[in-house]
Amino acid sequence: MTGRTSLRWGSATDAGLVRRTNQDHLVVDPGLFAVADGMGGHAAGEVASELAIDALRTAFLAIGPPRTSDDLVGAVHAANATVFEHANADAELRGMGTTLTAAAVVTVDGEERIAVANVGDSRAYVFAHGDLTQLTEDHSVAEELARIGEIGPEEVETHPQRHILTRALGIFPVIEVDLWDVLPYPGDRVLLCSDGLVREMTDEQIASVLRRFADPGEAAGELVARARSAGGADNITVVVVDVVDAHTDAGPPLPVPAAPALPAVPAAPEPRPARAHRARRGDAEGRPGSGSAPSASAPPPQTTPAPVARHRRLTARAIAFVVLLLAVLAGATVAVVAYARDSYFVTLGPAGAAAASPLVLPGSRPLVIEQGRPGGLLWFHPTLVETTGVLSSEVLPSHLADLQKGRVEPSVGAARAYVANLVQEAARAAPATTLPTAVTSTTLP
Ligand code: MN
Repeated sequence: MTGRTSLRWGSATDAGLVRRTNQDHLVVDPGLFAVADGMGGHAAGEVASELAIDALRTAFLAIGPPRTSDDLVGAVHAANATVFEHANADAELRGMGTTLTAAAVVTVDGEERIAVANVGDSRAYVFAHGDLTQLTEDHSVAEELARIGEIGPEEVETHPQRHILTRALGIFPVIEVDLWDVLPYPGDRVLLCSDGLVREMTDEQIASVLRRFADPGEAAGELVARARSAGGADNITVVVVDVVDAHTDAGPPLPVPAAPALPAVPAAPEPRPARAHRARRGDAEGRPGSGSAPSASAPPPQTTPAPVARHRRLTARAIAFVVLLLAVLAGATVAVVAYARDSYFVTLGPAGAAAASPLVLPGSRPLVIEQGRPGGLLWFHPTLVETTGVLSSEVLPSHLADLQKGRVEPSVGAARAYVANLVQEAARAAPATTLPTAVTSTTLP
């Protein structure tokens, strides 16, 4: 323990009644508490959750107190890297992954807080004044669909993909970690649990146990026992951390959501403050995939290995989003190119070429047709299409300002017609001027 925040804790874990192995792991250490729910074939799930817990503890406790929220998030990233490396180094472990929900005492602006970091569908709750509030958000397909409004909140509990994770440790080299911090008030409890608990018990049933069992170890043990007797379809792990003493002394205890620590998956929705209690999310028929190949968080059997299937979905969403974005950008680019390129203008070319002809009056410039926008647009510079045989001295002076800026026409033909009109207009206005008549037919170099 660090500083003045004094904690008391207890924990319990059990394989449940259906699974042959317990692929959940936990750590309770002064200042660091965590639950991990592994997934993967054979023993890979157990390996993943254990690796994650060990790496988390090693990385976080290597930093001496006072520790920060960033230290906790950094330790979660270290845990991810460890699981990812092992998964890719060993064919037997390929595709393994794990959830990780961790709580630790950290210092924020000189004040102690309990930081909670989460990846996956294990949960953290805050129990205060007899009320249980879910702090974390499940990173499951059904929850994400509900968050973006594709399905209603009431559909989450029965959605076929409610157990398919959208985020887990060990799948990608970089992950996004949700982070929260909680002001520690004496009497408040923080509950960490794997989904094996919430599958079997409603939030209200959990709250009832937390109200009646003051000792954190007894409360944890009772919760696991209740989940077992309710069916125990999955591994059940519970950590209860009680705030015994803290120096915070103002205001009601409210969970304070913090910003997400490291966005890595572009399509993943941002974490939001914890919502009100949700009803039981466990399903009566039991989680599929518990037969011959027991694995703690196995998705439906047809999808193997589990984490890969989970992320294939998210990746498809991400790709769809990126493709859409690129299409919009490409469309905009095409429009810009079209605007920049699909027009022509008549303007005055450089004097040099015209002046080289003995028939041209000094200061006269050739009329030229260019493609693009006068002055260019973005990186598109106008290009010369042709130099007309007409000189600036052959057109009425009233048009020279227009020509200097560039007279825009929709096509080369229209630009030529415009030039021809200028010549005719000048001829009508001054049939007997000093202009050398031969110039109009002179082809300039
Ligand atoms: Mn589980």
